[in-house]
Amino acid sequence: MSADILLAKLNKVKRAGPGRWMACCPACADKHPSLSIRETDDGRILVHDFSGGCSAAEIVAAAGLELSDLFPPRNDGHHRSGPERRPFPATDALRAVGFEALVVCAAAAALATGEPLSAVDRERLLQAGERIQSALSGAGL
Ligand SMILES: [Zn+2]
Repeated sequence: MSADILLAKLNKVKRAGPGRWMACCPACADKHPSLSIRETDDGRILVHDFSGGCSAAEIVAAAGLELSDLFPPRNDGHHRSGPERRPFPATDALRAVGFEALVVCAAAAALATGEPLSAVDRERLLQAGERIQSALSGAGL
């Protein structure tokens, strides 16, 4: 398939380059487009949620599609290439990591004053750590 089938189901789609788009993740309450969509040379569609860290399965299910929709129909019975080592550009990861780093900085500043973190802040801090990991792995770092 082409990426059009998926893009038609997403909100705030914008083209980020040849075969690349950003859109709001359908699987979580994503207000700013942080879902990266990429069409590879061999026709596969790669998705990565740099904000919520949703899995590809969650994202396609929320868009009303199947994981198999992300792969081109097999015609010759063998795959041309192996798994993509670095599916997403580091700039996408950097944007996500940069925002989460600010969250961590705010928590660090509060801790430095001896102020205890609220349960909500602690939860958000853990989430920032997870999102940073997710963004780095999405860029193959
Ligand atoms: Zn998401």
